[in-house]
Amino acid sequence: MKPTSNTPIPFIAAANYAQTGAWVDALQAAMPAERIIAFDAMNDEDKATCQVAIVANPNPADLHQLPQLQWIHSVWAGVERLVADLGDTHLKIVRLVDPQLANTMAEAVLAWTLYLHRDMPAYAKQQAKQIWQALEYVRPQQRRIGLLGLGALGEAAAVSLLRAGFQVAGWSRHRKAIDGVNCFAGADELPAMLAQTDILVCLLPLTPDTRGLLNAVALTALPQGASLINFARGAIVNDTDLHAALDSGHLAHAVLDVFEVEPLPVSQWQWQHPGITLLPHCSAPTDRQTASQIVAGNILRYRQSGVLPVTIDVQRGY
Ligand code: NAP
Repeated sequence: MKPTSNTPIPFIAAANYAQTGAWVDALQAAMPAERIIAFDAMNDEDKATCQVAIVANPNPADLHQLPQLQWIHSVWAGVERLVADLGDTHLKIVRLVDPQLANTMAEAVLAWTLYLHRDMPAYAKQQAKQIWQALEYVRPQQRRIGLLGLGALGEAAAVSLLRAGFQVAGWSRHRKAIDGVNCFAGADELPAMLAQTDILVCLLPLTPDTRGLLNAVALTALPQGASLINFARGAIVNDTDLHAALDSGHLAHAVLDVFEVEPLPVSQWQWQHPGITLLPHCSAPTDRQTASQIVAGNILRYRQSGVLPVTIDVQRGY
């Protein structure tokens, strides 16, 4: 169907989402010629005509009230929940691809890689025991970082790690060519990359293929004393296998920003484990202002040409 100008654009979020007003304001400022409305403020006429919606974990029942809806633009980069919630749908799904988000994630990857590289967990444990002892210095050129995922976020992280002097390898489904990065591709090549990784950084989407990927087999393929950073999704890591790998000393440390259930329940072992640094899903928050500009650009292009931005491959899961 051809895009019609002047149809309202709803912002649809979960019922208890506190930032709806702030998103409507930012999106409206980014596309002044459009009419952005919170879903709850739409009348029946608005609902009958709108073709595109901007979403943040929407209730699927809300989307079903929009008979002309063609596509939805998420303001998040990860869409596994949206794909699962919508099931078999005719709707095209567009996710957020924002260079600012990639920069923020690259900064987080560099920060927490340096944290592990410069032995901060070990020094914190020494301080607690009042131990004065310098550990052996390792140059970044001697430290091998393995990136799982070389997409929008993984590639930006690779560039910042290279700039800091690290050896960088990366893994994706299709082989990438990134200057200075040793690129691996496909399930067959994963063990080879893991075997030469000191710090493994996970930046994969959660899909049927990546759920539970970091299990005992994968963790054991890492060299003794390796560390893990998971900034992607909790369910990519098998928690029981991670616990065992940390307890046995095979893994030295894990920095975890994401969990299968968030907030992480206080009863969970990760809160107390000395081998874990726990973060509250803060490695790369969406920047409302830059994200609104990206969404506005995509919607204005659609209004002018009818062409949608790159959409999610629902079968593939990302
Ligand atoms: P993206 O551009 O879609 O990149 C995904 C990468 O993973 C691609 O390189 C892809 O390979 C690779 N991949 C996917 N499935 C694979 C498989 N089965 N085997 C090997 N490689 C596979 O995604 P992105 O924008 O970089 O984001 C990645 C994830 O980061 C998001 O899905 C989200 O869950 C997470 N995230 C977390 C935060 C946070 O604050 N913690 C913030 C934003 C995003 P190809 O290139 O060959 O397709």
